[in-house]
Amino acid sequence: MTINFLVGVILAIGIAVLTRIKKALTWGAVWMAGGMLIFISCMSGWVESLFLVGMYLSVFVVDAVLGEKMESATKDVHEKGGIRNYKQILANGSVGCICILLYKMRGQSAFLMAYYASIFEVMADSIASDVGVLSKHPPRDICTWKVVKRGISGGVSVLGLMASAIACVVAGMVTGLILKFGMREFLLIIIAPYFGMLADSVIGSRLQVKYVCTVCGMPTEKNKHCGMQTVISGGFKKISNSMVNFICTVLAAVTTCLLAFL
Ligand SMILES: [Zn+2]
Repeated sequence: MTINFLVGVILAIGIAVLTRIKKALTWGAVWMAGGMLIFISCMSGWVESLFLVGMYLSVFVVDAVLGEKMESATKDVHEKGGIRNYKQILANGSVGCICILLYKMRGQSAFLMAYYASIFEVMADSIASDVGVLSKHPPRDICTWKVVKRGISGGVSVLGLMASAIACVVAGMVTGLILKFGMREFLLIIIAPYFGMLADSVIGSRLQVKYVCTVCGMPTEKNKHCGMQTVISGGFKKISNSMVNFICTVLAAVTTCLLAFL
């Protein structure tokens, strides 16, 4: 317990320093991410929190490498800028924390797998959209396959989908080898996150709130554009990008649990 707590604190400080230097997280988000790391480390062990750090790092590294490209491609459109706030961290990490709590209470490995599925879903989603920006072709809506503006939720690219698949396989293989998972568990923690990421695009396309600028007519996820309030052009007002992310971590975790218990 003491060792796990200490490792959790060290990892939390490491993430705090890195993300503040890179200005990737707000202070609220730093506290939230650090708290989650310590919680997971104490509840389960430092291996689990190290994987959470790995997930954060994979997101930050891709952000850092592609940052400027992404910023210029999506800054007019995307709901939030590059810096993540505590709500986004909560949307991405809360399901993982609940899974770890259930694992601690019940001791069933299905909850541990659900934890991994939920954090790999976040990674898969982030890599699909970040690497997708590099695609020479414009993104297409996952449901209608019509060309959409970069940064609009629901838009996917073949490059992003492939990069995300590779990331899921690599993350699943590393976890499977370290935790000595069987073939079934191994496949589950690769496939469930990938389906979660696809569900993220489908829900992003069909249900997530979308706005349009009343001045320049650009579709956007921001509620302000050209200095004016934008108007809703589709989706449900309550379903923001963070809400979609949260729903999809739930989907990945619940699917993993159900299939693991079968
Ligand atoms: Zn505008």
